Amino acid sequence: MEQRGAVIQNDGMTAPALPLIAIDGPSGVGKSTTARRVAERLGWYYLDTGAMYRAAALAVQRAGIALSDRPALEALLQSLDLSQEGTRIFLAGEDVSEAIRSQATTQLVTPVSADARVREVLVDQQRRIGARGRWVVDGRDIGTVVFTGACCKVFLTASPEARARRRFLELQAKGQSPDLEAVLQDLQRRDLADSTRAVAPLRRAEDAAELDSSALSLDQVVDWIVARHQSHP
Ligand code: C5P
Repeated sequence: MEQRGAVIQNDGMTAPALPLIAIDGPSGVGKSTTARRVAERLGWYYLDTGAMYRAAALAVQRAGIALSDRPALEALLQSLDLSQEGTRIFLAGEDVSEAIRSQATTQLVTPVSADARVREVLVDQQRRIGARGRWVVDGRDIGTVVFTGACCKVFLTASPEARARRRFLELQAKGQSPDLEAVLQDLQRRDLADSTRAVAPLRRAEDAAELDSSALSLDQVVDWIVARHQSHP
């Protein structure tokens, strides 16, 4: 495996830094698009962990099980068959890339992703996927939990208003007629849930660089991350 630099682990030992870029931040900040573009620029792979949590929520929704039914949830997790090809996400071989963005799944992903056992299973899969490095991974806990040895950690932020406006324009471009206030409220609901949950809450890793993208274009954000990665390889 390619090794660059070194990081000090919690136990004080030095471990090789993983050539992997972790991009964390709140909902609607543009992490997925940014991460995909950074991966294209570097010739690396891209992993959308939010899509994995969404696909798990869709599986729970389709199975009609309650999270409190632990044996049923465990059985579902044991047989959860997720895969990603390019930007498409598959659940048991079915392309669910659109289905995971529905309103119902977006509501359910909050409690599903707050479940410690769900996180354990998905984090394990994410670590196996990214183990050899050369991945750009976006999520909420990539720099703090999943890949603490990532050589480059970015915490991407933008004001709630800027994020709501971007999401609103995205939905309009898809032919939908969103309500700006409802979009803003949904982002704020998810921010609060993600940053106050007991397991792996959304927060900036101590060694992550924070970038406020409120007034930046996508190109500027991508350039900034690529430049940072190249200056701290
Ligand atoms: O990134 P996206 O908005 O698609 O993620 C959907 C949901 O999955 C988030 O609202 C968050 O609750 C959860 N998530 C998470 N940890 C990650 C990625 C996403 O808890 N690493």
